[in-house]
Amino acid sequence: SEPVLRAVNLHKTYRGGLLSRGGAVRAVSGVDLDLYPGETLGIVGESGCGKSTLARMLVGLERPDEGEVTFRGRPFFTRGGVPRDIRRRVQMVFQDPLTSLNPRMTVHDIVAEPLRVHRLAPNSRAMRERVAELLTLVGLSPDRMSRFPHEFSGGQRQRIGIARALATEPDVIVCDEPVSALDMSVQAQVVNLFAELQRTLGVALVFIAHDLAVVRHVSHRVGVMYLGRMAELGTAAEVYSAPAHPYTMALLSAAPVPKLALRGRKRIMLAGDPPSPVAPPPGCRFHTRCWKATDRCGQVEPAFEEVDGHFAACHYAERPA
Ligand code: SF4
Ligand code: MG
Repeated sequence: SEPVLRAVNLHKTYRGGLLSRGGAVRAVSGVDLDLYPGETLGIVGESGCGKSTLARMLVGLERPDEGEVTFRGRPFFTRGGVPRDIRRRVQMVFQDPLTSLNPRMTVHDIVAEPLRVHRLAPNSRAMRERVAELLTLVGLSPDRMSRFPHEFSGGQRQRIGIARALATEPDVIVCDEPVSALDMSVQAQVVNLFAELQRTLGVALVFIAHDLAVVRHVSHRVGVMYLGRMAELGTAAEVYSAPAHPYTMALLSAAPVPKLALRGRKRIMLAGDPPSPVAPPPGCRFHTRCWKATDRCGQVEPAFEEVDGHFAACHYAERPA
């Protein structure tokens, strides 16, 4: 089938930010991806790798400096801004429900807002009914719709954020670290909710997380980002059991869950911290930390090459024989 969402060669640079010390932060430097109807694409990477910036471009909240995002073949960024029907069909769930939910609004008003903006309820009674339906869908009691966000737990607040994202019946939801701010015990419940919603509603998800363990059970495909670029992207089975890129191997070998760590492989320690996105290393951006690096890696940037749908940006990618 055709992708529902497609990103081609996305670039985004920020100037004058807190981290930049006068330089330009190259947050995203040439990312391509396709999202197919009804799939979950997990995207992982360390903080500062550009995943939030990518998320914001994928929903049209941020305009790329270069490149294009399309929804069912139609460009997001037109002269008049992102077309209303595309905004309706592509929604976002944010990392921290405490800052993304207005504390002065009731849960009813928060979830009803997109219904009002997109004129999806003919009157206030229909709106109330729809809000009740959405809250039930995410496992919250509609009886509590007159309450305020602070009266809910962190996990419940994130469910409110999910109900709001579902209100417009989106085809795509981009979730930027939706469980990172939650306790470990609550994370699994919210991840399971996403998996269930996807099965019942058929919505396609981009699920961003900072480690591979979180997205493992919900993702059909997984992308691994490093310093503003995609290092590897493939089916979850391939990325977890036959990773092609040294960075993915290192992340897996360091996984806190022993079952996730590659069997029979030694733990790979990465040298140093990620370099600054103000001045990414030349050649392969990972070469300053890669145990497989050669002279060529510091000079020639590897292409993001595909073998049977499994992409990796490495001169020495491990491919099945
Ligand atoms: Fe490591 Fe070289 Fe591959 Fe980059 S291109 S990941 S430095 S082996
Ligand atoms: Mg982030």
